[in-house]
Amino acid sequence: MDDALIIGAGHNGLVCAWALAKAGLKVRVLERRPVVGGACVTEEFAPGFRNSTASYTVSLLAPEIIREMELARHGLKLVLRPEANFLPCEDGRYLLAGTRTAAEFAKFSEQDAAALPRYAAMLERIAGALRMLSRRTPPPGTASLADLPGLLVAAREIRALAPADRQALLRLVAGSAAEFLDGWFESEPVKALFGFDSIVGTWASPFMPGTGYVLLHHVFGEVNGVKGAWGHALGGMGAITQAMRAACAAAGVTIETDAPVARVLVVDGRARGVETADGQIRPARILVANVGPKLLFGHLVAPEHQPETLRQGIKGFRTGSASFRMNVALSGLPRFSALPEPGPHLASGILLGPSLAWMDQAFSDSVACGMARAPVVEMLIPSLLDSSLAPPGFHVASLFAQHFAPRLPVGRPWDEAARAKAADLVLEVVERFAPGFRKLVVGELALSPADLEARFGLVDGDIFHGAMRLDQLWAARPLLGMGSYATPIAGLWLCGAGAHPGGGVSGLPGRNAARAILAARRQGRA
Ligand SMILES: Cc1cc2nc3c(=O)[nH]c(=O)nc-3n(C[C@H](O)[C@H](O)[C@H](O)COP(=O)(O)OP(=O)(O)OC[C@H]3O[C@@H](n4cnc5c(N)ncnc54)[C@H](O)[C@@H]3O)c2cc1C
Repeated sequence: MDDALIIGAGHNGLVCAWALAKAGLKVRVLERRPVVGGACVTEEFAPGFRNSTASYTVSLLAPEIIREMELARHGLKLVLRPEANFLPCEDGRYLLAGTRTAAEFAKFSEQDAAALPRYAAMLERIAGALRMLSRRTPPPGTASLADLPGLLVAAREIRALAPADRQALLRLVAGSAAEFLDGWFESEPVKALFGFDSIVGTWASPFMPGTGYVLLHHVFGEVNGVKGAWGHALGGMGAITQAMRAACAAAGVTIETDAPVARVLVVDGRARGVETADGQIRPARILVANVGPKLLFGHLVAPEHQPETLRQGIKGFRTGSASFRMNVALSGLPRFSALPEPGPHLASGILLGPSLAWMDQAFSDSVACGMARAPVVEMLIPSLLDSSLAPPGFHVASLFAQHFAPRLPVGRPWDEAARAKAADLVLEVVERFAPGFRKLVVGELALSPADLEARFGLVDGDIFHGAMRLDQLWAARPLLGMGSYATPIAGLWLCGAGAHPGGGVSGLPGRNAARAILAARRQGRA
């Protein structure tokens, strides 16, 4: 019998498996797909063209995980973008943030350029507190004495912030990104540059409360020691999980692919193992779910084993990030009207959606008719940094677009026609800023929210396993009572993005969960 069995070989499942194996446990991972990595994977999408299929850029991955798992030794190499972001405007101007951001802001507003250093420093101080909390086990959220240690840790982190930073943190966590940014900047492109982070993977307008936290969630990472930076994993995001797979193998973890779990076996209120889709029973002392809470409790644990509060709570757990993901193979590089010649801007995160109003309209459209008429798109051309992805002379681009409703109105399915329509809307936005782009496309993969669910098991296509909003964060992620990775079913734990600190390729839910499981084991509770 295995000591621990992990359902899913997403990056968090691999991190958790590695940590448990390093502590001496006999660990097995069962993965539904033929390849490990979940939403952190590289695949061929057109003959000769490879790219990250879902997640496409790295920042949140914890440096201690890179170090502890020796991911560099197992082949991982991260590189920084030469510039952070390029935001073209429709009037022919542009913002290039990175090496000379203040000067670029000054093109639009001297006041915004002057505010930038104070804003960046404030955000980094708050991100620092968040970074610490992201590495701690939250209180379970049971409103009992068990919550006390976790509450004290959080209180200490927050007390260490200056009063003005505490105020800003409160505004970010509870308020809208638009209001927050209004308090700092006046220029629309500047606000759009920062505001993009507040709606990425989040079905919301930047004017809605809760989007402030999403903005914050995207700045607590780092690449190669550069805080807040986003970068590229050579070989695509799958290089991260392939290195993790190698680290797991070296630690003695058994990983089985093409091994979908059909149900969790619960006997006398305790999880005892799983049954795979081919009918095999796999007993284990500890069961850890890398799959999201909605998939776990909606499909894998029979309702009769779930307390009523759990069933009801999971029903209300909000999923659906309204994201549409494309990869395109290109016969050449795009020419943006605002900056036509090739340059470092093409290797940055190219943000198409030059105002918060654009993002708001995209959200409103998606509520009214299921699709943003002019989606917000981030485009990356990783082949500029990584020649392994495309044949010489060709390129690949990642297109990550918001907002596309997880379910289309009046029961319209996300079928081929809907997917083609959405892909057309995305390409139309790129064409608007880079005329001639469509003609460069020689191969394409388009994934609707329904495709993301079918391919990766992301319920409602939610890239974070569940919305990152105040009532689904920290001790309340996924539900109050489950903040410390234990579920109400004895022996069943969570280790995926549906647990603290949430979505993104950070590895932290997996690492934190392993630590919580090992602590419980030492105390005879697991
Ligand atoms: C389109 C998209 C773009 C994104 N962009 C970024 C980005 O650029 N940067 C970033 O940091 N984050 C990004 N994210 C978010 C990030 O990728 C995810 O939050 C993160 O990868 C989740 O990791 P995980 O290990 O918790 O879960 P997952 O990666 O979802 O892994 C869960 C695993 O469980 C497996 N599974 C499902 N059902 C079963 C079953 N029945 N039996 C066995 N196995 C099963 C799945 O196949 C999968 O391998 C993006 C996500 C998506 C979808």
